[in-house]
Amino acid sequence: MHRLEECRFCHILAGQQFNGSVDKPIDVCDDYISMASIGALIEGWSLVVPREHCLSLRDHYKSSTFFQFVQSNVQNVERQYGPAIIFEHGANHHGSLTSCGTDHAHLHIVPQPFPINAMLENSGISGWQKIPASQIQSAAHDAEYLFLSTSPLSNDPIGFFKIVDTPTSQFFRHAIAATLGKTATADYKQHPHLDVSTRTGERLRRAA
Ligand SMILES: [Zn+2]
Ligand SMILES: [Zn+2]
Repeated sequence: MHRLEECRFCHILAGQQFNGSVDKPIDVCDDYISMASIGALIEGWSLVVPREHCLSLRDHYKSSTFFQFVQSNVQNVERQYGPAIIFEHGANHHGSLTSCGTDHAHLHIVPQPFPINAMLENSGISGWQKIPASQIQSAAHDAEYLFLSTSPLSNDPIGFFKIVDTPTSQFFRHAIAATLGKTATADYKQHPHLDVSTRTGERLRRAA
């Protein structure tokens, strides 16, 4: 069952907290909130979440409201933790393996103390295309996709894009974990790293 009432992010958006202050918003606007990510392998790892329940951000990448909010949160992360990347695993159905344990769409913001090319090699996937975010909707249509950009402050970030052939759970975090030598604790369900997430939320809320 993957019904809306069971969506963890929808409950968090309604003010519920499952992991203490980790589930408190860092920043809010009319259409989006940001919050610390559970299972953060790196302090500063946070998420931008649309208030409206949807499965991917493919319809948001042409919205200036979306990018204004993303940029303001990326700036906050970068002031505290240094240069960041953004990525999304765009699912297309409830219960998809491509989403990382929640069906509710979200953009990851991750400080980047790791080489992206090595990470993409570690991902085991080749054939990445480079496209601007505004083209994701037309490039993906209804398919599931992965998108990662190292230009998170752009109004139309160019990034690595790939249609998903074989859905993989927590795809980018496994690739990041492999690059950081943290494969053993990559699965956030078994290693939620709540201490790191709590510190992330506290520091970014103070600075927001
Ligand atoms: Zn939801
Ligand atoms: Zn995710």
